[in-house]
Amino acid sequence: MAQHRYLLPEDRIPAHWYNIAADLPSMPPPPLNPGTGQPLGPEALAGIFPMSLIEQEVSTDRYIAIPDPVREIYAMWRPTPMYRALGLEKALGTTCKIFYKYEGVSPAGSHKPNTSVPQAYYNAQAGIKRLTTETGAGQWGSSLSFACNLFDIECKVFMVRVSYDSKPYRRMMMETWGGECVASPSEETNAGRAILAEHPDSPGSLGIAISEAVEQAAMNDDTNYALGSVLNHVLLHQTVVGEEAKEQMEMAGAYPDVVIGCVGGGSNFGGLAFPFLQDKIAGKDIRIVAVEPASCPTLTRGTYGYDFGDTAQTTPLLPMHSLGHDFIPPSIHSGGLRYHGMAPLVSHVVHTGLVEATAHGQVECFAEAVRFARVEGIIPAPEPSHAIRQVVVEVERAREEGVEKTILFNLCGHGHFDMAAYADFLSGNMKDLAVDEGELARATEVLAAMPGIA
Ligand SMILES: *Cc1c(COP(=O)(O)O)cnc(C)c1O
Repeated sequence: MAQHRYLLPEDRIPAHWYNIAADLPSMPPPPLNPGTGQPLGPEALAGIFPMSLIEQEVSTDRYIAIPDPVREIYAMWRPTPMYRALGLEKALGTTCKIFYKYEGVSPAGSHKPNTSVPQAYYNAQAGIKRLTTETGAGQWGSSLSFACNLFDIECKVFMVRVSYDSKPYRRMMMETWGGECVASPSEETNAGRAILAEHPDSPGSLGIAISEAVEQAAMNDDTNYALGSVLNHVLLHQTVVGEEAKEQMEMAGAYPDVVIGCVGGGSNFGGLAFPFLQDKIAGKDIRIVAVEPASCPTLTRGTYGYDFGDTAQTTPLLPMHSLGHDFIPPSIHSGGLRYHGMAPLVSHVVHTGLVEATAHGQVECFAEAVRFARVEGIIPAPEPSHAIRQVVVEVERAREEGVEKTILFNLCGHGHFDMAAYADFLSGNMKDLAVDEGELARATEVLAAMPGIA
């Protein structure tokens, strides 16, 4: 019988995070101060982040030690299992080997607690009493509520309106862990009020919710802001996923030819892929593929240059692929992938050709999610269904080329709170939501005036 699960004992929880900045052939350009157009000093972020996280943001050390209190909490669910997708291999009739790392076993049901826990820890160490944040599908808001509760910090979450209305149980999770959740745009901030004045029915976006959360953090000394993706330190924390997966691939006596992850802001992808990208940079012949929704095609159709991380233009200018900071993507079910920008580290490795990017529509992704659930048992979150769709594309490609590939992907969360999305698909009502080309052209236009990147 072929082995199905590859499990590591608790003492194999990684002791360090892996920092890809140490091994990149060239560094991504620095964030810029939007006022001066000059590179941003670390102190510019001190109003909303603790110094320990700012140091991680700019660090070029290859390994950064994980504090013991963080590892102790990681032990609630880490190391996570790596599975061989024997059921899917059989259903596809392929001789390719398919493996997946499963992050849905965390308390919140996704990879997000890998970074919410250290972020809450470092803020508590710095004497912070309250964290504000944004959330799309609710995965990040619930993960941060979980972590804040463990370190006695208050948690305030601005949840994108369309998800707030369609995913009430995510809000209940936040409240169960002691967090507070409001729909964004809200009447509580200048940024929210400004949007509502112009668009009373705004479905919200991650960009708007970030503006609201940053505004509240910047205005209160005892309050900081926490971001669930995009920034270097967030991707750093997620590398526990790839570090464990490397060891588990060794247990399986295999090594991936292709590594795949879905991308919203880039953190679950970077978390799995960067430890393998280290090997690729050192000469290993592998492909690494980032998969995004066709309705929010940041990497495949966005502009690589500088843009704001949020709609109200309160963040530094980040070097990244962007659809424009006030682009509002169609209301697809993968709320976690509806972001106009991308992690600067992921943008950089795509721009420099180390990583490939591709996009899929939600209907083909849900078809794969349902097939996956039927043969593997686990019901995927809508976001990683994009990765599963790409796995099938890779299997078809290997068949055409007459080769056998080993494929590894990140099943970064379960879909237990996404049953409305499954209902939409199973009833045959789900549609592919095309990007509104006029809206995209309008939102992208503002980027022409931003500093470019050579
Ligand atoms: C938040 C989330 C995403 C998107 O964020 P990344 O930073 O790109 O990983 C994808 N999948 C799940 C399950 C999420 O919760």
